[in-house]
Amino acid sequence: MKIHSKLPNVGTTIFTVMSDLATEYNAVNLGQGFPDYEMSGELIALVNEAMKKGFNQYVPMQGYLPLREALSEKIQSLYNTVTDPNTQITITPGGTYAIYTALTTILQPGDEVIIFEPAYDSYVPTVKINGAVPVLIDLEFPGYKIDWNKVRQKISPKTRAIMLNSPHNPTGSVLSANDMHELRSIVKDKNIFICSDEVYEHLVFDGIPHQSILRYPDLLEKSFVCFSFGKVFHCTGWKLGYCVSSPELTKEFRKVHQFNCFSCNSPMQVALAKFLSDKNSYLPLSSFMQKKRDHFIKLMKATKFQLLNSSGSYFICGTYHDISDESDKDFSIRITKEYGVTPIPVSVFYQAGTDNKVVRFCFAKKEETLEAAVERLATIS
Ligand code: PMP
Ligand code: GLN
Repeated sequence: MKIHSKLPNVGTTIFTVMSDLATEYNAVNLGQGFPDYEMSGELIALVNEAMKKGFNQYVPMQGYLPLREALSEKIQSLYNTVTDPNTQITITPGGTYAIYTALTTILQPGDEVIIFEPAYDSYVPTVKINGAVPVLIDLEFPGYKIDWNKVRQKISPKTRAIMLNSPHNPTGSVLSANDMHELRSIVKDKNIFICSDEVYEHLVFDGIPHQSILRYPDLLEKSFVCFSFGKVFHCTGWKLGYCVSSPELTKEFRKVHQFNCFSCNSPMQVALAKFLSDKNSYLPLSSFMQKKRDHFIKLMKATKFQLLNSSGSYFICGTYHDISDESDKDFSIRITKEYGVTPIPVSVFYQAGTDNKVVRFCFAKKEETLEAAVERLATIS
């Protein structure tokens, strides 16, 4: 049997590779983005309660209505935008799936999608599997900001979508109000969609407001905005998220969704509907995570790494120019094996493998995990 691969150049994701290596060498894993601390006990209790009350059968294809209603209320209170839970919000099995479904909904073979690099690893394969073409633009190193003039130059009659991600994985950069202004002027009156990956929605630091597409009704008309409960509520294994869009786009999105997943697990949706009715379930998240970032930055002063800026997400990047001139992959593998700490090499987030000698650390960890990691990193000379 011969298979004509749809993704001939793709191997196993770096997250799996590095997590396996961390396990093999008993290293502190600051690679793959997952918390090692407990999620909310209250949310766990709400899931138990939902299961005991019999919420164990299919919910509607669009998602459990009270959860969509709770999300619509949250969107209105945070971003002052009215969304219809019936026609604009769809619950999905995670953020990655929402992005995959959004791109599959709009792309035809030969369409172009603008992707900023470094980019989360699923974007390029998702574009390619749909027969479309990724058009890659580097974020400006080391601030990882978008050069909008470059975007203007790359727009062509074939441009069908722009992929956005703020807070950004792997760098922790965030979009500003000015970025949104530039974006609006570029897509105005053009048939260009936006797929906005906002899975780190509540994890923006230093009092910076999250520049969600949901703040801008004119952008929402042409956007799919993708979220992840797993990421924000410290339960990445839940793989539950949602997509917000216009009624017209949502109708097409659900046509794809209904024949792939159909509907997501019920008890978690019932639990989240109740959990979200209290704003305290999400408002303190940014300061909770900022404390972890600040603690990590303080600890890392004892090492030879130079940390770059992180304004959001689970991640902060660092250069190791003062330690080694190895490639970032070799360096990441070596420090896992020799020093017992696992980062992620940032070159893997570039199709061309651009290596600025930068590695990504995940600080969504217990204080003692961060301390144990940095104690080891500080011995690298
Ligand atoms: N987008 C980005 C930028 C991410 O870092 C992640 C993390 N897993 C996802 C999407 C996927 O979220 P989920 O696990 O809900 O699919
Ligand atoms: N989003 C996570 C990260 O960037 C990992 C998700 C995955 O393993 N696919 O580390």
